[in-house]
Amino acid sequence: MKIKQFMLISTLAAGTMMYSCSSNQNKAHDNSDFDVNCDEFADLQVLRYQIPGFEELTPKQKELAYYLFEAANAGRDIIYDQNNKNNLLVRKTIEAIFEANPKHEATEDWKKFEIYAKRFFFSNGVHHHYSNLKFVPACSFEFFAELVKKLDPAKLPVSGKTADEFLAMIKPIIFDSNFEAKKVDLAPGIDNVVASANNFYEGVTQKEVEEYYNARIKKDDAEPISWGLNSKMTKVDGKIVEQVWKVGGMYSAAIEKIVYWLEKAAGVAENDKQKKALNLLVEYYKTGDLKKWDEYNIAWVNDTESRLDVVNGFIEVYDDAIGKRASFESVVSIKDMEATKRIAAIAKEAQWFEDHSPIAAEHKKKEVKGITAKVITVIQESGASAQSTPIGINLPNANWIRQKHGSKSVSLGNIVHSYNVVGAKSPVLKEFAENEAQIARAKEYGSLAGDLHTDMHEVIGHASGQINKGVGDPDQTLKNYASTLEEARADLVALYYVLDQKLVDIGVMPSLDCGKAEYDGYIMNGLITQLTRLNIGENLEEAHMRNRQLNAKWAYEMGKKDNVIEFIKRDGKTYVKVNNYEKLRDLFGQLLKEIQRIKSEGDYKAATALVEGYGVKVDQDLLKEVKERFNKLNVAPYKGFIQPKLVPVMQGENMVDVKVEYPSDFLINQLEQGKNYGLLPVKN
Ligand SMILES: [Zn+2]
Repeated sequence: MKIKQFMLISTLAAGTMMYSCSSNQNKAHDNSDFDVNCDEFADLQVLRYQIPGFEELTPKQKELAYYLFEAANAGRDIIYDQNNKNNLLVRKTIEAIFEANPKHEATEDWKKFEIYAKRFFFSNGVHHHYSNLKFVPACSFEFFAELVKKLDPAKLPVSGKTADEFLAMIKPIIFDSNFEAKKVDLAPGIDNVVASANNFYEGVTQKEVEEYYNARIKKDDAEPISWGLNSKMTKVDGKIVEQVWKVGGMYSAAIEKIVYWLEKAAGVAENDKQKKALNLLVEYYKTGDLKKWDEYNIAWVNDTESRLDVVNGFIEVYDDAIGKRASFESVVSIKDMEATKRIAAIAKEAQWFEDHSPIAAEHKKKEVKGITAKVITVIQESGASAQSTPIGINLPNANWIRQKHGSKSVSLGNIVHSYNVVGAKSPVLKEFAENEAQIARAKEYGSLAGDLHTDMHEVIGHASGQINKGVGDPDQTLKNYASTLEEARADLVALYYVLDQKLVDIGVMPSLDCGKAEYDGYIMNGLITQLTRLNIGENLEEAHMRNRQLNAKWAYEMGKKDNVIEFIKRDGKTYVKVNNYEKLRDLFGQLLKEIQRIKSEGDYKAATALVEGYGVKVDQDLLKEVKERFNKLNVAPYKGFIQPKLVPVMQGENMVDVKVEYPSDFLINQLEQGKNYGLLPVKN
């Protein structure tokens, strides 16, 4: 599970107080002249990040980092194909056009085509990475057709077709926004499997999928495998089959490469625990055996001493409407020793937080198992973690492993740092804050408040609570609402405790004002500013956005009679203000208790009422107003990153060093990655 950046007003300004090593910006190797801005187009901004601390690694650790970097990128093609079965076809067409036109004229049409290409690369496909909706080029089809017709027919990504035949085939895929309109469709009352345009299912209905698993999953299995996690479900001769993503199975060409690099990595592992984990991951990729996947996860959780760490696999299920199948991703990182002290202080008190939580006693964990928490410095992200990135990650996802063996929680320090650098210059806070006190608090504490929220969301949020005996996992019980409610639950734990004196007492927060800054920001975002990410007419789809509105709106409605949260209209602009922080905290606690109950009991009816009642519908007048205000500010609502490049320095057969390069041209970088890591055919 993971958390994404949500505070459009991230506020840290250089020179404001640094408390409890809340970020890594004072690192000796962090070059402060480094430009974090890379590119901006449509509703997207591409940022850059540095890898402070990389130089301190030993040559062997750097070699390990390099192999993991290659293993991450070897899976790049997989995410395209998972997002939609035509994505690799589209990508290879775009790549061929750029290759054939190195010196293009910068006509209006060409610029529009280029923006489409960059949006496509940013989202790993034809659907928007966040709204999941299909976007189409602003240039005409005729212009695109000319580009295709000028290509050498041998360069077309499918053989045996004339240019005209090829164009007829690809036209709806690229230019028709109604054709496979939505990557993930969570709408109630429809077949979410059939309606979703991702490539996780073909020719099967939601009912068939559910029946297939119901017949296999034993409800009382104490150690259930993650059913369906690593396969596509389809029909062969009328029979349902799982096409497993493994060596020799679907995506084999890419997975073989991943295995190749992981085996090299295991050869230079820092210690036996890390080596064991890497070897199990290799075995899992070779066999596709989900039992091996669990074994690997246990070994991975136990590897806490290594400086380098990696997440590599089919992990998060956000892109499957019914939360079974996982997208490929990788995050390679090093531990930030200094910044880890803050998050470790919270993890150390995990049992205290569980004991003092407002949830019902029977839903509490009696014994919170080893949560290790650290701040990491990211070296490389790929798949579902790029170009849009998480800022916090908590794994593994299997509930029983978390309960028995614990979990690892990380906060992505250097990513957050880049967000803060651009956030400090953002005009959003001034436009949307209701009063000067909010602004002052946000400036002083905003960045630390954000760090603490992320830490607690991951470390004591996802990790908390337990499911009643005999009740299945949320993907079976809460289905299309499982992700939203899980994120809401983790957020609420963070919100409940960010206003607790305990944080001051354990030395991670200077005063409760920091918590108030978090409440201001969360409420403003959940009720107003996050709307900028939608188009007029839309409602909320994405799990994290739904959860934020759900939490904010529920608290607003329930606190109405006490005026806990107040909407204020001034000069035609809408603001929101928290009048009573203590009462708001109490409301967050009540909602947390209810959502934990829903998860523990698997109450689908209550889940539906809560999410549909508070987390989905959007006031269209307010949406219009927010869009207009944002338009004037010229701030891209979504941000993502261009990845650094690791380049080995060889002496004969030996790798003696690894250099880090920081590319600055997003398009060139993406085209280059397509060349280096284009491992899969267009049809898989
Ligand atoms: Zn989360």
